[in-house]
Amino acid sequence: MPDALDLNHIRLTGRPLIVCDIDEVVLEFLTPFRNFLRSSGRDLLPRSFRLHGNVVKLDSGEPEADEATSALLEQFFTLQDLWQTPADRVAETLAGLAADADIVFLTAMPPRHTGARRALLNRHGLPYPMLASEEPKGPIIKRLHDARDVPLVFIDDILRNLQSAQAHAPDCLLINLMANAQFRALAPEPGDGILKADSWADTAAIIRTHFLR
Ligand SMILES: [Mg+2]
Repeated sequence: MPDALDLNHIRLTGRPLIVCDIDEVVLEFLTPFRNFLRSSGRDLLPRSFRLHGNVVKLDSGEPEADEATSALLEQFFTLQDLWQTPADRVAETLAGLAADADIVFLTAMPPRHTGARRALLNRHGLPYPMLASEEPKGPIIKRLHDARDVPLVFIDDILRNLQSAQAHAPDCLLINLMANAQFRALAPEPGDGILKADSWADTAAIIRTHFLR
């Protein structure tokens, strides 16, 4: 068993809690990752909803092996500061929601890149506390929210993460948001109990309705 994730730096008030993924939700991921790959003679092809197998060498069109793709991803996270940019209207939308709710970022990025990501988020007006963990997200959200009687929202682009939250925090409002339109079109339908949003404006409208319910 890995050590339990340290939540001690997260201070929650009695307000609703919005837990928010980062890659493809708060920060653009697929578009900058594609640009990063193109800078070294590779490309990311939107032909299925996954990275491995879809990273190809431009000269031969051959796919990179899974191990090489993982190494490129690791290199990208190390250099994220040079490539990743905020999703459209995320900073102003979260600033508006932060007037009425606590916001916590929960990213599945390897925790060793926390410093680079923190600096990047701060620079773009996204100062909210962040948890980085490769463990399933549902149990972390449950621990974070505890048994508090306030609304809980979770936003993520990956269905596996939303379903994990659904299993461990059944009262949580679940929103499926993905910045990249090409890959969004390839994503599986979210299924019962998970709402789909196309933008941060849409996401904020759904959250506001949930808070007022
Ligand atoms: Mg994500």
